[in-house]
Amino acid sequence: MQEYRMLIGGEWVNSTTTETFADINPATLETLALLQLAGYKDVDRAVEAAWKGFKVWSETPPPKRAEVLFKAARLLEERKEDLAVLMTKEMGKILPEARGDVQEAIDIAYYAAGEGRRMFGETSSSELRDKFCMTVLRPLGVVGLITPWNFPVAIPAWKVLPALMAGNAVVLKPASDTPLSAIKFVETLLEAGLPPGTINLVTGAGSTVGAALVKHPGVRAISFTGSLETGKWIMGECAKSMKRVSLELGGKNPVIVMDDADLELALEGVLWGAFGTTGQRCTATSRLILHEGVREEFSSRLLEKTEKLKVGDGLLPETEVGPVINRAQLEKIESYVRIGQEEGAKLLSGGKRANSELPGYFFEPTIFTDVKPEMRIAREEIFGPVLSIITVSGFEEALEVANNTAYGLSSAIYTKDISKAFRAVEKLECGITYINAPTIGAEVHLPFGGVKGTGNGFREAGPEAIREFTEVKAVYIDYSGKLQKAQIDTSAPAVQERGTEQ
Ligand code: NAD
Repeated sequence: MQEYRMLIGGEWVNSTTTETFADINPATLETLALLQLAGYKDVDRAVEAAWKGFKVWSETPPPKRAEVLFKAARLLEERKEDLAVLMTKEMGKILPEARGDVQEAIDIAYYAAGEGRRMFGETSSSELRDKFCMTVLRPLGVVGLITPWNFPVAIPAWKVLPALMAGNAVVLKPASDTPLSAIKFVETLLEAGLPPGTINLVTGAGSTVGAALVKHPGVRAISFTGSLETGKWIMGECAKSMKRVSLELGGKNPVIVMDDADLELALEGVLWGAFGTTGQRCTATSRLILHEGVREEFSSRLLEKTEKLKVGDGLLPETEVGPVINRAQLEKIESYVRIGQEEGAKLLSGGKRANSELPGYFFEPTIFTDVKPEMRIAREEIFGPVLSIITVSGFEEALEVANNTAYGLSSAIYTKDISKAFRAVEKLECGITYINAPTIGAEVHLPFGGVKGTGNGFREAGPEAIREFTEVKAVYIDYSGKLQKAQIDTSAPAVQERGTEQ
């Protein structure tokens, strides 16, 4: 069994605990590899190495940093297929989706590299004569990046590449279910020419290694994507040491299907949004808010299509829905099916394990009808192939139900009425709204993130990505050759007002 090491200061090293953990294929339950179970001391080593890397990297001109990222993008392109196959084995998503995951990393690599010649500040006139004002972007220092398992290459790439472009050094802690994809991604960055220490990778449990990174006094910022519970804890810890923290958390994403919608288009969108990636996307469609006028027709056509979906190993070309990530997740989904039934919702389709003759963690695409907005299956993130249908009698009620959630990541509406489409854009409380398209499918040049329980105001990707990883410094250049006092001296000598200087 191949054993993989962690990256610290440019060297692939064993953990100080000398322990390892297994990386399991969720479709076959085979062990793919053994990984280092890092401890607190490894986090110390990684942070120390990162500060050394920061010294070199932060002084490298951004267009030169960009050259490394462009090269990494090209290497990722060359390795796209190998990385995608590995990802399907490690995480379970079907091969075409795994290719999409790697493509997203390639896209953000090119995008972030392009920012190398666009690290713009702003200039401004001064209130005083012979004085010039501007802002410059500065890196934060060493940043800790903690990622989930559902996008094993794309999410690390979304964080690592803009953070590096901005001149930071990073310590990456990938999810324990998908460390190998992260290691392979990081290998391409090293080969592209990143100086030692600029990127470090530690593998192990979130409760030890992740927590140690969050608490480490040498880490200036944490960028975290994961569950609401973990995010809340991290935010509390970061508050204690005044660390910057950006959070990308869960979702309970609604799709509204109005009675004037193109039903075939909406069916395709709901099916893809709910059961693509086995429902394990933070933007997955978990609530279908359906106009009563199309309830019967839409539900029965959706049922017909859902029952035809093929569940299986994501490497097989006929598979449309892969396994869920692990046993705990499988049991969580089963428990929510029980909760839904106890709450009085009607199970329209699925509700149990699929392919029970196979060892993997397969679950049937599941649909509940007669769901009420107050039920737990309509409020809590299940993170699996479970869709709840809530019927409404009109547009205003649809918006109200859509917003009746602690989360606010993605949303969608299917309608041919332009007024309703624009009203939905205004009124839906979330970071992303799709019109006549499913709740999933973000592109890297637009900001990504959510409101309410989904995040704390930061956005990833798009122009916001560099902001997440930089500080803005204000610079004043006085070329008058004399002491000038802001708010006290004025440019018109006749006017001498009293004031305060700050
Ligand atoms: P998780 O919170 O269990 O784990 C995420 C990461 O945090 C893992 O690397 C884990 O090891 C680490 N971790 C766990 N406890 C920690 C602690 N105490 N301190 C520091 N790190 C810790 O989430 P998950 O199950 O891996 O991922 C699924 C969740 O991620 C879902 O809620 C999903 O909606 C969310 N997600 C959000 C987005 C987004 O951009 N909004 C994207 C993908 C996934």
